[in-house]
Amino acid sequence: MKRIYMDHAATTQVDQEVMEVMLPYFTTYYGNASSFHSYGREAHDAMEDARKKVAELIGAESDEIIFTAGGTEADNIAIKGVAYKKEKGTIITSSIEHPAVLETCRALEREGFNVTYLPVDRFGMVQPPDVESAKKDETIIISIMHANNEIGTVQPIKEIAKIASENGIPFHADAVQSAGKVSIDVKRMNIDLLSLSSHKIYGPKGVGALYIKKGVKINPIIHGGGHERGLRSSTENIPGIVGFGKACELAKKRMDTDVPYLIKLRDKLINNTLDKIEESYLNGHSTKRLPNNAHFRFTAIEGESLIMSLDDKGIAASTGSACSSKKLEPSHVLMAIGLNEVEAHGSLRLTLGRENTDEELEYVLEALPEVVERLREISPLWKKDLEIEKWRKEMEKR
Ligand SMILES: *Cc1c(COP(=O)(O)O)cnc(C)c1O
Repeated sequence: MKRIYMDHAATTQVDQEVMEVMLPYFTTYYGNASSFHSYGREAHDAMEDARKKVAELIGAESDEIIFTAGGTEADNIAIKGVAYKKEKGTIITSSIEHPAVLETCRALEREGFNVTYLPVDRFGMVQPPDVESAKKDETIIISIMHANNEIGTVQPIKEIAKIASENGIPFHADAVQSAGKVSIDVKRMNIDLLSLSSHKIYGPKGVGALYIKKGVKINPIIHGGGHERGLRSSTENIPGIVGFGKACELAKKRMDTDVPYLIKLRDKLINNTLDKIEESYLNGHSTKRLPNNAHFRFTAIEGESLIMSLDDKGIAASTGSACSSKKLEPSHVLMAIGLNEVEAHGSLRLTLGRENTDEELEYVLEALPEVVERLREISPLWKKDLEIEKWRKEMEKR
């Protein structure tokens, strides 16, 4: 069976060009970047070239980038790094962050730090005035994600970062989902710390980066040989870093063509789904959303059954975020935008990628209404809703 991958927020395929530049670094140029011989220099030079490419994607300088083992580690290093430097104080974040940020904040709470979790509106937006009123003298860092991994809402981080900078508070943004899809310029946006991950932008898994603006002081959380300016010890993952660099270069080069293409597919997916399926709703913001994200809610549908039925038809989708979809608790993001548990469980995330075609989209637009209809036929909830509706109409006639 032909398979269609529409779960790009969970991970992406490694681009062919990315894989090709990585290969020689496993066998021919396998040196340790810290070694003083030619093998070491080759590895070191390749790493510095990749660092430049990562920096260029976000408007940073090369020496403001440290490589990490992924987005999660970058988030941990940023937030714990600042917290341990300051020793005590309050962290401001949002209630819809990725677990990499939320769980880091919870861990710091257990260590005695205070954390303010800002609410979001029903579209998943953090309100800058809320940030303004939450900040206190003892605020040590503000961490707000650039774009949400579940519902795709893009936050006004420029405005939030401005508030932070006017008050001398470091601002961190998790830009794992937005990189390559929404333009980022850390200088113009006043960002102090920014997390990136390679495998969400067609690079290999297990590598990421943290941008640390010159002058921002953090303590290391991983100790050892002093790699990456002492902030992330461990022999660098050269093939991964080289691949990540290439992925950043491609993301930057392709943004002008990829973004309009994704928006076209996304809008067709959203409009057709809402048209074809009764009692279907869009979660997240209608315009301030990632170019590749469509997130729906279907009345009287159970998300897990929907994913399995779509999988039977060769379509790979997700109920919420890949991290929480194995748990049965409703997504914290969907709860934060005000859905009840039943509504949250009836949600579906389809995230597009540059290799998705219009033909694939047509197939999904055929399959999805069929699957929803079939599941509703066997859903006790749906029948009950219809009965209530019939009863309401009867009452109106009287
Ligand atoms: C995927 C993701 C992460 C984690 O990145 P890894 O490289 O998988 O550790 C962090 N934040 C967001 C918003 C993500 O989507």
